[in-house]
Amino acid sequence: MSTAPSNLLLQGLERLLPTYARADLTLVRGGGCRVWDADGREYLDFGGGIAVVSLGHCHPAPLAAAHAQLDRLWHVSNLYRTEPAEELASLLSARFGGAQAFFCNSGAEAIEAALKYARKATGKTGVVALDGSFHGRTLGALSATGQPGKRVPFAPLVPGVRFVPPNDTAALRTAVDDEVGLILLEPILGEGGVVSLDREFVMAAADLPPLLCLDEVQTGVGRTGTFFAFEQLGVRPDLVTLAKGLANGLPIGVLLVADEAIGGFAPGDHGSTFGGNPVSCAAACAVVDTIDDELLGNVRDRGAELVACLQRHPGVVSVRGRGLLVGVETVASASDVVEAARELNLLVLTAGENVVRLAPPLTVSADDANLACNSLLQVLHNVLPSRIL
Ligand code: PLP
Repeated sequence: MSTAPSNLLLQGLERLLPTYARADLTLVRGGGCRVWDADGREYLDFGGGIAVVSLGHCHPAPLAAAHAQLDRLWHVSNLYRTEPAEELASLLSARFGGAQAFFCNSGAEAIEAALKYARKATGKTGVVALDGSFHGRTLGALSATGQPGKRVPFAPLVPGVRFVPPNDTAALRTAVDDEVGLILLEPILGEGGVVSLDREFVMAAADLPPLLCLDEVQTGVGRTGTFFAFEQLGVRPDLVTLAKGLANGLPIGVLLVADEAIGGFAPGDHGSTFGGNPVSCAAACAVVDTIDDELLGNVRDRGAELVACLQRHPGVVSVRGRGLLVGVETVASASDVVEAARELNLLVLTAGENVVRLAPPLTVSADDANLACNSLLQVLHNVLPSRIL
């Protein structure tokens, strides 16, 4: 008789730790703004892998760059110099206007680097972050995430973080004392409901003594219609984090430190075995090269069309965001909308209870934006009670 534990019968999905409530949809192929499931059913992808597939699935530029790099060199460690990492650092510095880069593999790791950098550079451990913010799931990043539901089960976290409401300049000024070395802000709170920060609030943060880190993991790399969202906010931050869209889906994260704020890290202070991976960096160089004025114009135009189309619906409370990071607040449950949209072959995201989030590839066409908008209007019609319509 077999003595094998019964859990050996678990397979496939059940062999993954259940950290995600996955839809029962297996995607096997992607191209442009579309993905296909195992049965060949086609979906319009307005989630973009959660704001990651910036140029569209299998875009030829990062695809060719990654292929060429795979044929030459995959990995050598950070004990040696590599061309793709140095080229990417130079490209990002040029976009920023003078910065040094630390490469890692995800948004949360970029935030960890920023938290450590601020401690080392300022000698202070206090951090001010925002209620409702999201900076990642590792313990440091989670400590600065302003969503108690995500933090509380993992207490005690890293001490010294104070939270203030978004756009409350008086609360921000009060929270900053001699112990605070870092102010950490998302220009648009992405996971927290697509809430934009006011220019005045961000400018006030930049004027305070702590280092200002803008977490552009979601808003960066062209997502809001400029390469960095901060370009629209009248500030030059000390630190910026990027990840998601940078390599069009290959894992990468980066902390950028402005030339005026460099000098905090010395050899041995921080590191990552896979950070600066040549294949990811080669793909990211192609992404950065592809994001030109014409593409950024497309982001702004398609975003404006989506807002104009969606805000006319009676079930829509507000449409917010910038460029192609769009939040649609509805009177319906956002997860009901996401599910119903999937039935109509449209993939979208949530950003809280009642906010549906759209983050399609920056290359999306006017026809596809229109198609997605009409599908979403149809979905709202289907899920909302008739008294609202
Ligand atoms: N910061 C922001 C603004 C994010 O939106 C996210 C992820 O959604 C993160 C950090 C964490 O990134 P990652 O999931 O790559 O660790």
